[in-house]
Amino acid sequence: MFGLMSDCLFCKIAAKQLPAKLVHEDPDTVAFEDTNPQAPTHVLVVPRKHVATLNDLGPEDEAVIGRLHRVAAQLAKERGFAERGWRAVMNCNREAGQTVFHLHLHLLGGRTFAWPPG
Ligand code: 5GP
Ligand code: ZN
Repeated sequence: MFGLMSDCLFCKIAAKQLPAKLVHEDPDTVAFEDTNPQAPTHVLVVPRKHVATLNDLGPEDEAVIGRLHRVAAQLAKERGFAERGWRAVMNCNREAGQTVFHLHLHLLGGRTFAWPPG
């Protein structure tokens, strides 16, 4: 399996070895509903390839990082809040609150967000 890390939660979701509410699939990415949503829309967009953190990106990963953002924007348009606004968040390592060490973009939308973040 492409990039599959056998002990990784999001690799298993991408490979359909664990259940999730999938909202998007393509050859390079999958997106699914977060189980602990922090907004009316809280979707995680992940590369199928296992990359642990933003610190671990290689030059070959640049295209898929762009793809994550394009998938998020498409979902925001489909859900009707693209123009009102939405947030894309990628937490990197402990101080930022990363708890799952497979790269993921949080798509948050459907409410107003504070800045600066807490
Ligand atoms: P992080 O804190 O690493 O940036 O984000 C991890 C996210 O994954 C959290 O928002 C958390 O609610 C979500 N999450 C953790 N375990 C699962 C799971 O088994 N399924 C789904 N769909 N989301 C999960
Ligand atoms: Zn993984």
